[in-house]
Amino acid sequence: MTLPSRAEVVVVGAGLAGLSAATRLAAAGRDVHLVDAAGHVGGRLTTTRVDGFTVDRGFQVLNTGYPRVADLDLDALDMGWFWTGAVVQGDSGPHRVVDPRQHLGALLDTVRAPIGGLPRKAALAAFSARAGYLPVSRLLAAPERTAEEALRAAGVGEQALETFLRPFLSGVLLEDRLTTSSRYLDLVWRSLVRGRVGLPAAGMQSVGQQLADRLPAGHVHLGVRVTAVDGRSVRTATGTTTADAVVVATDPDTATGLLPGLGASAPRQVTTHLHVLPASPWPAPLIVLGRPGGHLVNTVVVSDAQPAYSPDRRALVASSTLQPTREADVRAEIARAHGVGPGDLDHLTSVTVTGAQPAATVPLQHRRPVDLGEGLFVCGDHRDTPSIQGAMASGARTARAVLRRLTASTAPVPGNEG
Ligand SMILES: Cc1cc2nc3c(=O)[nH]c(=O)nc-3n(C[C@H](O)[C@H](O)[C@H](O)COP(=O)(O)OP(=O)(O)OC[C@H]3O[C@@H](n4cnc5c(N)ncnc54)[C@H](O)[C@@H]3O)c2cc1C
Repeated sequence: MTLPSRAEVVVVGAGLAGLSAATRLAAAGRDVHLVDAAGHVGGRLTTTRVDGFTVDRGFQVLNTGYPRVADLDLDALDMGWFWTGAVVQGDSGPHRVVDPRQHLGALLDTVRAPIGGLPRKAALAAFSARAGYLPVSRLLAAPERTAEEALRAAGVGEQALETFLRPFLSGVLLEDRLTTSSRYLDLVWRSLVRGRVGLPAAGMQSVGQQLADRLPAGHVHLGVRVTAVDGRSVRTATGTTTADAVVVATDPDTATGLLPGLGASAPRQVTTHLHVLPASPWPAPLIVLGRPGGHLVNTVVVSDAQPAYSPDRRALVASSTLQPTREADVRAEIARAHGVGPGDLDHLTSVTVTGAQPAATVPLQHRRPVDLGEGLFVCGDHRDTPSIQGAMASGARTARAVLRRLTASTAPVPGNEG
């Protein structure tokens, strides 16, 4: 169905931000049209099939500690779960560092893990308790510094920082200098303490698809690129649509192109290599961290958490690096992390995502304006935090702002109620 020449609201971009805004507006009874240049919804949550395997465009997970996950039906997504924690590669072999509240059986492993003595582990536990249970307002009011400075000040110690926290957080923040804001670190750590991370049976794209399925038929327009936004008019190759409100919910780069002067943070990138192993070498679904000085940030048997990612019992392995790498340059490192030979790994595909997420450096601007005035709105992870939570929260915030405007513009003029 083609985009009409007139609509109440047009949302440009069917990533989680645009979908969150559009579904809320549709639920409020508004006539919303959602447009995306891609041939599918979900934006940066994209899933393809390669030789029968379910392959997300870059390794990413859904975290139930995100408040906006309340908008999703997790049962319908048929989630498979990772253990909360990671495998640290020490000189004496692999060690599990896990959340003892969830996996008491692995407590001894965690106590013995080479991440510093008991006082350091107690400091890490205290850091986790603070991030997990203090009110968000207190976390956001704390003095801001870099993530590395905050971890050092918390007393976690050099060993935990280098063998566990830096590689673990590099995979989340997509930067290894830990210059990310301590406030964003607190929010990320909070979600890990409060939730679980997992993968939907049909891949990460199904998160977006679930939201899109709530929109009325004929209101989602895929494969339609918006070339210009002029006030409340949206231009595409096939014509112009004028609306009472226009929401630009694209990636940050496109948003700054469509809305000059907007400003967005530098993008973080990640390269993910996918391999197949005859079987998983691990007894539990855990992310394996890269070694200090290596290329790998992490490597993980995704089919251990979500068996539906594999068409059979073979193991699907996703391995990520921050710098673009060639598969041949990391194969030996991946094999070593899993205790297998390089020849056991069957290379499936590799992908580099250059604009994976915007940086969240100091000072954290986690509530950038979404109402640009005159019926023009903007949302996306670059308006809140660089995450699924940030995208969905900004979409929700924007929907509220749009509804305020639409309600105000249809309210009767005082004295004219007639
Ligand atoms: C590899 C990778 C790993 C990640 N890991 C995690 C993780 O583990 N946890 C987490 O919380 N977050 C993670 N993220 C970040 C998270 O995926 C994003 O923050 C979030 O999906 C952004 O959603 P969005 O709606 O703001 O933007 P997008 O998903 O980028 O959506 C924007 C949409 O706009 C469309 N568009 C662009 N230009 C136009 C145009 N001109 N006309 C029409 N449509 C247009 C695009 O096609 C796209 O669908 C990861 C991201 C990547 C790529």
